[in-house]
Amino acid sequence: MKTASILGVQFHAVTKKQAVELAMSKLRARQKGYVVTPNPEIVDLCRRDPEFMGIVNHAALVLPDGIGIIYAAKILGEGLPGRVPGIEFAEELCAAMAKENMRLFLLGAKPGIAEKAGTNLCAKFPGLVLAGTHDGYFKKSGEESDAVVSAINASGAKLLFVCLGVPVQERWITDNREKLTAARVCMCLGGSLDVYAGVAQRAPKFFVDHSLEWFYRLMKEPKRIGRMMKLPKFLFGTYLAKIRGKA
Ligand code: UDP
Repeated sequence: MKTASILGVQFHAVTKKQAVELAMSKLRARQKGYVVTPNPEIVDLCRRDPEFMGIVNHAALVLPDGIGIIYAAKILGEGLPGRVPGIEFAEELCAAMAKENMRLFLLGAKPGIAEKAGTNLCAKFPGLVLAGTHDGYFKKSGEESDAVVSAINASGAKLLFVCLGVPVQERWITDNREKLTAARVCMCLGGSLDVYAGVAQRAPKFFVDHSLEWFYRLMKEPKRIGRMMKLPKFLFGTYLAKIRGKA
């Protein structure tokens, strides 16, 4: 698979449709792997934390979430076909799984949210089987964590959405990969369950289609300006890394 290196993170150069096909072939072939969807903030985190960079680059699929990654690819002359937001990729994967009556487990978010998200996903994609859910507020190691792993294994789910926020979700999957015996594909999805459950909203279609989701969020939450400034900083850092030959 072709990759595009953005400041050390190796993104897979695939469209959303190709990514869904790849994940489905893994699910059918009983191969194991996890999927991550880094945005500029996650790439920054990887640069500061080489161990986390290793976790991200070890994923079976590394998909570009956010327009910032696409701009950075352009600056570096790397080819990426376009954004593949995790939240959209996961929904299309559910649509494909529904046709084969595959089982899904949802892990994360506040109590009650994963159940609601599961009910909504199953209503939207008839045929999809909700194998189980668990909230994300448990100790991420030791007995409590092992009990969550056992519940996932017992559910027989082939696909697992892990929605605990970055970098907790990526680390939790890595720490438990060997113990997770039934799930073939694990997907890191941040706050997506809140959106599927209907308690958080994405930007309206116009903003999503025009890569202006960041602008919509800024209008809704002006205090995000500090976070927003990270994007021009990230792009400037990418440009500097390029001219210094360190990209
Ligand atoms: N969360 C969780 N367990 C925790 C901490 C957070 O399940 O110990 C959930 C939280 O309820 C939210 C999600 O993880 O649903 C994080 O969402 P956010 O949008 O902040 O994540 P990001 O995608 O930015 O990492």
